[in-house]
Amino acid sequence: MSSKKSLVWFRNDLRVRDNPALFSACKESLSVTAVFFDCSKQWSIHGKSPIQYHFVEQSLNHLSQELGELGIEFMVIPGSTFKESVSQICELMEEGDYDHLYLNQEPGWNELQRDNELCKRLANRCYFFNSDCVIKPGDVTLDSGDFYKVFTPYKNRWFQVLSTQNYEPLSKPKPMGEPIVNPPLEQSGPKKDSSNWPAGEQSALARLDEFCNLPLVHYSQNRDFPALSATSELSPYLAIGVISPKQCLAAVMNRLERLPTEKSEEGYSWVNEIIWREFYRHLLYFKPSLSKGESFKAEPELKWQYDEHMFQQWADGNTGYPIVDAAMRCLNQTGFMHNRLRMVVASFLTKDLLIDWRWGESYFMKQLIDGDFAANNGGWQWASGTGADAAPFFRIFNPTTQSQKFDPKGQFIKRWIPELNSANAKDIHAPEAWLEQNSQYANYPSPIVCHKRARIVALNTYQSRKQSIDKNEQPFDEPSNTQLL
Ligand SMILES: Cc1cc2nc3c(=O)[nH]c(=O)nc-3n(C[C@H](O)[C@H](O)[C@H](O)COP(=O)(O)OP(=O)(O)OC[C@H]3O[C@@H](n4cnc5c(N)ncnc54)[C@H](O)[C@@H]3O)c2cc1C
Repeated sequence: MSSKKSLVWFRNDLRVRDNPALFSACKESLSVTAVFFDCSKQWSIHGKSPIQYHFVEQSLNHLSQELGELGIEFMVIPGSTFKESVSQICELMEEGDYDHLYLNQEPGWNELQRDNELCKRLANRCYFFNSDCVIKPGDVTLDSGDFYKVFTPYKNRWFQVLSTQNYEPLSKPKPMGEPIVNPPLEQSGPKKDSSNWPAGEQSALARLDEFCNLPLVHYSQNRDFPALSATSELSPYLAIGVISPKQCLAAVMNRLERLPTEKSEEGYSWVNEIIWREFYRHLLYFKPSLSKGESFKAEPELKWQYDEHMFQQWADGNTGYPIVDAAMRCLNQTGFMHNRLRMVVASFLTKDLLIDWRWGESYFMKQLIDGDFAANNGGWQWASGTGADAAPFFRIFNPTTQSQKFDPKGQFIKRWIPELNSANAKDIHAPEAWLEQNSQYANYPSPIVCHKRARIVALNTYQSRKQSIDKNEQPFDEPSNTQLL
């Protein structure tokens, strides 16, 4: 590869460090310009949340500044669909007389169609790179070439493939010239404020550093307790590529002086989560129909309910199950939810209310700051029992015991449900009797379903499906520790 004048198209890779498209363009070109398309029309079709949109805008400001320091002009082109962005980039290539276009691949069906169209139009002038995964999706396969559908064998192979690759993150490219000041970016339309997550690469790296300095070594013991700040909360940055998974591994290695590859090793369970992220991308790569709402497992699927009233009570945090309601209220206000709670509320929607997981998936995307199609789809299908490596149908989370185990003193619940502020630890997880005696708090709802009964209904409903499941079903793995289920 050798080019004189290059264009770099930023998408879900909003960083200058460990960015292979940018790095290669800078290495191989005399001048580099960068562009980002604000695909607001497309994103609204994808259900991108207003808070993530805001976070992208804030992150672009930081990227713009960092690119300016490297002497790289940065343009943000507003308001397009993916289809329009292909035409626009082709025009830009001609108008600007660019020799080559450098870009990192993005997961997802529409993204893939866009890039296929781009390749047709620009033929051999595009250079694609993998920046989104440690190991390029498609590179972890069985010897037969078939793809892994169960996490643990995938992970074992993933470690093998990793040992044959250089996975050190790339540095920041060398400046292309004197620093320039890119003009401030225009903000479009009202969004939901994302400032709880300071934007930009430097902030993401600082958060990673802070996490690896202490919480990392206590992660496996503490990560399931939502009242503790025990997880990295890096997912908003990973979802839009402000930080890369290779940088995450490098930080772990830096802290522990090696990469933990065994369950017994410190830091292993966090690396395991990074591999779950890769696993869901791997599934999307080999089964693109997941992007179109298909469940992973063959039909017959459950006969889902489409009860809008029940759904709204779940979404608003008014189910009468405090842990579910606290989690949903937290999501609605902050755009974030702890992993343990995502599993609890997803199980509640799909198994207690028997509502189609696709409704929950879509609601999450519209609220989450870290909305990420692959992880969200994987998480919902795992919880509903329709996924590749899903919890089997008979594993139904009991919201009350989950609450007792993972929020024993009700600290998290109290943060989000002021009505239960004066309930004690014994009453708070199932407060009906307490509410009867304390009528001043009666505005907190009674349970919308009886979990015991809902569980039996779910199990009966699943019976017909059970018969069609292969008797030798593979063992399943959990994205997080559900031993205490
Ligand atoms: C129903 C459901 C929906 C989900 N939707 C999303 C989503 O839209 N976006 C998203 O990033 N994650 C999603 N997850 C996965 C997980 O809940 C979040 O990644 C995690 O809570 C983010 O917090 P953290 O950054 O502190 O994670 P940490 O525990 O610090 O983990 C580090 C990183 O590993 C990745 N990761 C962790 N757990 C998982 C997992 N189970 N699956 C895939 N990747 C994981 C994330 O990128 C995360 O930032 C979902 C899980 C469920 C059960």
